[in-house]
Amino acid sequence: MDKTRLGRYGRQICGRAWISRAALVVLLTWMSTAACVRLGPGIRGLVDLTTSGEDELRLTYLGTGGWIFQHGSDMVLAAPLFTNPSFLQTGLRPIRADTVEIDRHMAPYDVRGARAILSGHAHYDHLMDVPRVAAVHAPNARIVGSRTVANTLGSWSGVGGRVDVVDDSAGDQSSVGRWLTYGPGIRVMALRSHHAPHFDGYTLYQGSVDSPLASPPRYATEWLDGATFAFLIDFMDAVGEVAFRIYYQDAVVAPPLGFAPEVLIAQHPVDVAIFVPATFDQVDWHPEAFVQNLQPKRVLLGHWEDFFVPIDDPTRAIMLSDIGHFQDRLEHVFSGEWWRPEIGTEFRFSR
Ligand SMILES: [Zn+2]
Repeated sequence: MDKTRLGRYGRQICGRAWISRAALVVLLTWMSTAACVRLGPGIRGLVDLTTSGEDELRLTYLGTGGWIFQHGSDMVLAAPLFTNPSFLQTGLRPIRADTVEIDRHMAPYDVRGARAILSGHAHYDHLMDVPRVAAVHAPNARIVGSRTVANTLGSWSGVGGRVDVVDDSAGDQSSVGRWLTYGPGIRVMALRSHHAPHFDGYTLYQGSVDSPLASPPRYATEWLDGATFAFLIDFMDAVGEVAFRIYYQDAVVAPPLGFAPEVLIAQHPVDVAIFVPATFDQVDWHPEAFVQNLQPKRVLLGHWEDFFVPIDDPTRAIMLSDIGHFQDRLEHVFSGEWWRPEIGTEFRFSR
């Protein structure tokens, strides 16, 4: 898709989105308020389930799709969003990464050793802040994502050449994909997934970017999703065995898309599964089918909070989804421990 078509497409979608949103504002606000009544704050601070001397996995929630995964000196990031343009800005006006906010919120974390930044799809909330993070904070990291991720970052971002494109290497429920290795201690496998609708069967910002962009997307509508992927992240021990296995998704998907290969899970179930509750009710059997597929020891919920408000504002549940209902359904099928973290919460788990 050339830039002219992309821009025109973006404006067309922008118009449709504006009409839809204007009509939905009252309903969304009511739904959001209703959800907030049921949903208390998430857990915050440090959740440390380790005992000294044990091999440990650390996971820090950065908000929206953002995480830091760490095992010893091996580190992987999942793409964060700190810019948080408002609801109206996202619908009507140009948006761009707020580098001051990104730097301020990345400052507490030393991620210079990060080897990879995962972006499951190219919507702005999973890619817009990545160039700054990759250029300044994680300068040695590869970016792992779709061809649309690579083309959206294109030549303007300075990091488009650092993308490892996964479209042809992804696995699914019945086929093992190709592992991407980042040193002896990290391997990542993309999993074929899909982006669930945002509301009423309608998915915002759909499409692919088929050639590298020379200038950044201007509107939210120009950050097209492209192919969507979930990921398995394995941290390896000194003898080359899996020490910890993480499952990460940054969009809800209708199963069995988004599943991990059953043969891999039979060998090593997932130690920590990260699920997205936002818009879960647009598909069937999310999260139930994923609990069955992944056999997770622990579950964390990400991408649950409203990201249309400044990131320092008190957190509240994202509009459109009854997160409390998601939690009820999770508990119905999952007897292990699970948490819904506030931004900045760190988890430490043993094997
Ligand atoms: Zn999305």
